[in-house]
Amino acid sequence: MADAVTAGTAATAAAATAAAATAATAATAADLADLDAAIANCFACPRLVAWREEVAATRRAAFRDQTYWGRPVPGFGPADAEIAILGLAPAAHGGNRTGRIFTGDRSGDVLFAALHRAGLANQPTSVSRDDGLVLRHTRIFAAVRCAPPDNKPTPAERDTCAPWLHRELELIRPTLRVVVALGAFAWSAFWPALQAVYKTKPPVPRPPFGHGARWVGPDGVPALLGCYHVSQQNTFTGRLTPAMLDDVFARAIDLAGL
Ligand code: SF4
Repeated sequence: MADAVTAGTAATAAAATAAAATAATAATAADLADLDAAIANCFACPRLVAWREEVAATRRAAFRDQTYWGRPVPGFGPADAEIAILGLAPAAHGGNRTGRIFTGDRSGDVLFAALHRAGLANQPTSVSRDDGLVLRHTRIFAAVRCAPPDNKPTPAERDTCAPWLHRELELIRPTLRVVVALGAFAWSAFWPALQAVYKTKPPVPRPPFGHGARWVGPDGVPALLGCYHVSQQNTFTGRLTPAMLDDVFARAIDLAGL
């Protein structure tokens, strides 16, 4: 029992050290290009580093002839975006394969088709980093930048990765007006960012996540919109339909004043 407690304490201390190191590096990123490069070179979470590299080495049969990215996945979209789309983490054979968030998987197919319908993307598909996709007014990133096993990062991994998210929000803060949170995990990740980036205390109790949920804070703070995650589990079952996504992005465009 004592050994387990000691091991747990050591793991907590290691996570805190890793988070501090990540925060220090993130704080020095002068712009998004700097930040993207630093994120792609992050090795702070041993479990996720091992997983992203194992997936990249073993690959899925359909992608056996491809070289996986196998690293953390930076954000994508213009630096003067008014709308941010916040996801959970890259998919093992999507972003972790292609190096672009939501790219090369079914979730991305649904998301980018909706962004295209909304006029926020120049094409409806996102298949690789050199496919010509350009986003308008919109930047997409995830709360955790490495693909986690079973799409479930640990709380310590979430906290270690948070400084990347916070710095990204800081860098796009001048234009950012609304954050669309894809799922409850992203919705929860917004509140620490609100404190860290905007020095604004999150509401108590926290507004619950829901599809269509909306929180509007004080002036100068982006609004938060909830949207069911574009996972296959939601889109294949009809829990999240194209019309529901269209409605969310129409509201985001309106809140952004576009
Ligand atoms: S999850 Fe985030 S903090 Fe952890 S290794 Fe990946 S990029 Fe670094």
